[in-house]
Amino acid sequence: MTFPVGSGAQVPGGPGGATALAQLGTEAASCTRCRLASGRTNVVFGMGNPRARLMFVGEAPGEQEDLQGLPFVGRSGQLLDRLVLEEMGLTREDCYIANTLKCRPPGNRDPLPDETETCWPYLAQQLDLIAPVVVVTLGNFATRLLLGTAEPISRLRGRAYPYRAGHLVPTFHPSAALRGGGQVVAQMRADLVRAKELLFAATGKAPR
Ligand code: SF4
Repeated sequence: MTFPVGSGAQVPGGPGGATALAQLGTEAASCTRCRLASGRTNVVFGMGNPRARLMFVGEAPGEQEDLQGLPFVGRSGQLLDRLVLEEMGLTREDCYIANTLKCRPPGNRDPLPDETETCWPYLAQQLDLIAPVVVVTLGNFATRLLLGTAEPISRLRGRAYPYRAGHLVPTFHPSAALRGGGQVVAQMRADLVRAKELLFAATGKAPR
């Protein structure tokens, strides 16, 4: 599945981009473009530094995210925060975190193709406006969507891919790491180190 990439009119990563990103978040907050609007508590647009060089993309909000209106705030989010701090020395304020869908699918079911297609312009514009050097995709769904492939994350992870003007590093969703234990966590750590090295190579300085 491939989707058109939005074209931000603002300078990526600049002050105008931050304003445009905030405006986009305001627009999304009242979005009713797909069926998921009827069951949500909050739209979970994304959070973090609008000028971040590192962006994480997950699948869709879960129960806690829907209740709080913020991405990755449950147990899996806590694990992600810890791994990013330990392996990259970064906090949420240094990154940007978003999902492919901005509203929670009922019962945390997989996103449906028409929902993904309808919501895609929000993520495309976030990518345009933030213009990260490295995108880390979390799990099967986000990785397949952004790379346009049906391969499983277990085959896709372990390397980086050219993406837009930078790189894409696939890794497991932290909820899979919570279920899968030490081996999955170790692979996530290795992927985050790969992302850190790419950031360093692109900018010549530590990621922060
Ligand atoms: S999932 Fe996306 S397209 Fe659907 S209602 Fe929410 S913000 Fe709008």
